[in-house]
Amino acid sequence: MNILTFGPNGSGKGTQGAIIKEKYGINHIESGAIFREHIKGGTELGKKAKAYIDRGDLVPDEITIPMVLETLAKSKEQGWLLDGFPRSLAQAEALDKALKEAGMKLDCVVEIVLDRQIAKERIMGRRLCANDNNHPNHIAFDAIKPVEKDGKLVCRVCGGDLSARADDQDEDAINKRHDIYYDDKTGTMAAVNYFKKQQATPVISVDGAKAIKEVSALIMQQLP
Ligand code: AMP
Repeated sequence: MNILTFGPNGSGKGTQGAIIKEKYGINHIESGAIFREHIKGGTELGKKAKAYIDRGDLVPDEITIPMVLETLAKSKEQGWLLDGFPRSLAQAEALDKALKEAGMKLDCVVEIVLDRQIAKERIMGRRLCANDNNHPNHIAFDAIKPVEKDGKLVCRVCGGDLSARADDQDEDAINKRHDIYYDDKTGTMAAVNYFKKQQATPVISVDGAKAIKEVSALIMQQLP
């Protein structure tokens, strides 16, 4: 099963991705998380990407596209859920072409729809687990609230240390990421519309303002 997920930063896309990945036993591939791993590891790619990420700008396609396509190719057998890519019409076209060339079929597109202001308020409360990127924590949501240990907040799943992403605490960076997402001319909404227009793959659109469980139930009901 190969799935593409769309949703503005703050829509719960990562949380839903972790649930879908678990259910289908597929790899969760997050372009942003791959970049953060590179930055943590001090790789050349990480050094090139860091300044763009800190500002909330897109990392250039010549770095991003091959990086994502290589990761997808490694998950061909197991199947994948791709999150954070494509973020533009150009990336959608590149992905479509690459999948056809690699003989990979896209089974479904999941779009989480959320108002921009709500998405912004949500972003600032999310926390990253040091041990596992698929352990969602958010200080404003009871269902995924971190737990307190020795006077500090730790991951609700594994007790690992938590941190906030720098680009999640910077309002300019958040606005820039949302400008890119909601842009339906060449940005991410243009990528979503590209798949809707093609009609080659079913697109499931769900209301991301609902509770986490309701959103995942709606997605599960409709996945092929
Ligand atoms: P995310 O974790 O999805 O919010 O991504 C964090 C940052 O990584 C973004 O703000 C971009 O700077 C970069 N990034 C992630 N995915 C892409 C992509 N598909 N194209 C370009 N840059 C990306």
